[in-house]
Amino acid sequence: MSSWEVVIGMEVHVQPKTKSKMFCGCSIAGLNEPPNTHVCEICLGMPGVLPVPNKAAVEACIKTALALSCEIPQHTKFDRKNYMYPDLPKGYQISQYDLPMSVNGYLEVGASRVRIRRVHLEEDTGKLIHAGDKLHKASESYVDLNRAGVPLMEIVSEPDLRSADQARDYAMELRALLRAIGASEADMEKGQLRAEPNISIRRVGSQELGVKTELKNINSFRALHRAILYEVDRQQQALESGRAVVQETRGWDETEQRTFSQRSKEFAEDYRYFPEPDIPPLELDRAWIEELRRALPELPSVRRARLLDQLPAAQVAVIGADRDLADLYETAVAKGAPALATANWIVNEVAPTGKLMSGEYLAELIDLLQQGAVTRDQAREVHLESVETGRTPAEIVAEHGYSQVSDPSELRVLAEAVIDANPKAAADYRSGKKQAMQALMADLRKRAPQANPKVANELLLKLLA
Ligand SMILES: [Zn+2]
Repeated sequence: MSSWEVVIGMEVHVQPKTKSKMFCGCSIAGLNEPPNTHVCEICLGMPGVLPVPNKAAVEACIKTALALSCEIPQHTKFDRKNYMYPDLPKGYQISQYDLPMSVNGYLEVGASRVRIRRVHLEEDTGKLIHAGDKLHKASESYVDLNRAGVPLMEIVSEPDLRSADQARDYAMELRALLRAIGASEADMEKGQLRAEPNISIRRVGSQELGVKTELKNINSFRALHRAILYEVDRQQQALESGRAVVQETRGWDETEQRTFSQRSKEFAEDYRYFPEPDIPPLELDRAWIEELRRALPELPSVRRARLLDQLPAAQVAVIGADRDLADLYETAVAKGAPALATANWIVNEVAPTGKLMSGEYLAELIDLLQQGAVTRDQAREVHLESVETGRTPAEIVAEHGYSQVSDPSELRVLAEAVIDANPKAAADYRSGKKQAMQALMADLRKRAPQANPKVANELLLKLLA
C-alpha cells in the first residue's frame, strides 16, 4: 500500500490592534468586562443604522497584506454573509467576498514558501455561554455581545502545508510577523489569533485533492499540532478501511484530545453573499499604501538571517521569534555588550520572566557581570529591581553594596570553615563521590552569597585534594 500525503490549507483569524470595533465606536477594551456592556445600536444590528469602516483596522489589514507580499487591488468592498446564529445579532456578518482587501501573497516558512490566497477584513461574532455541565445538562444559554463587531483579519493560505509541524511553524511565523509590524498583539490566549486548518490526505503521487475537513477555532499552537495529527490519523484509518471522509466542520476537544463532528460543511452559495448596501466600495489611495509599505519594519525572516550571522541557531530561535527580545538584544549590543553573553542572558533570564529592561541598562548589567562585580544570582536581583524601579544597574549595585569576593586569602578561610562544618560531605568527596561537591558549594553560597563561585570552587578542590 502506498503511503499518504497530507495537504493542509489554513485560515487564520486575527484581531487587529484597534481602539474600537469594526463598524461602530464601541470600545474593544472591555471584551472581558461584564457581558453586553460594550454594545450599541450598530453592532446590535438595529434597523436603520449605518456602519462606518474603522480606518485603523483597514490600515492593519493593508500592512499585513504588504508584509505578506500581497497585491492590493484598486477597489475593495464589503459583503453580507447571511446566516442565522444566536451569537450573530444582525443575522448576517459583514465580510468580504469577491473583492477582498488583498490577494496573492506568500510567507516563507523555513525553507518553503506558503502561498497566501487573500487577506480580508470582517467582523467577529458574539460569544455563547452554555450553563450547566456534563452532569447537570445545560438548560440555559447566555449570549455576550461585547465581541460582536470586533474587527478580524482573515488570512487564507493555499493548501501548501504538508505536515502538522509545518502548519504549526506557519502559524508561529505568522504571529511573529503580525507582532513585528504592529498589526496585532496576536495573543492566542485572548482569542486574538485563531487557526482553522483544513486537512485532507491523498496517495503520494496523486494530483487530485482528497475530501477535506475543517477544524474550527484552534487557540494554541500545541492544540493545532495535536488536532492535525489526530485528524490525519482519523482520515487515514477511514480511507484504509474503505470508508469515506465526509466534508464537514470539526471541533477539537482539548480534554479528550480528539476532533469531533460539528456540522456538515456549508458552501459559499448557502450564505447568499451580496454587496453590503450601507458601505460604498473603498478606493484605496495608492500614495497611502506606498507610505505604509515604506514604513514597514524589518520582517522577522530578514532579521533572523541577520542574527544568525552573529549567534548560534538555538539563541536565534528564541530571540528572533520575539520583536521585543530582538530589539533588546540589538540595543544592548549596539551599546557595546558582547553578543553571546547578552544573548544567553536574554534567553535564560529575560525570556522566561518576560521582564524587559532597556538595552542600555542591559549592557551595563552584562558589563558588571563580566567584570565580576556581581554574582549571577545578584545580577538576577539587580535585573528585577531595575525593571521595577527604573534605576540603573550600577546604582542598585552600589546601594546594595553588592560586590563579589574573589580574594583567595579571604575565600580560603571560608572554604576551610565549610569543610570543617560538613565532615561527611568532605569524606564522601575524598572517597570519590564527586557529587558531594554540590553540598559543599551550597553551604558556601549560604554563608557568603557574594563569594566568587569559580574561585571558591577551585579552593575547595585544592583543600580536598
Ligand atoms: Zn457598537
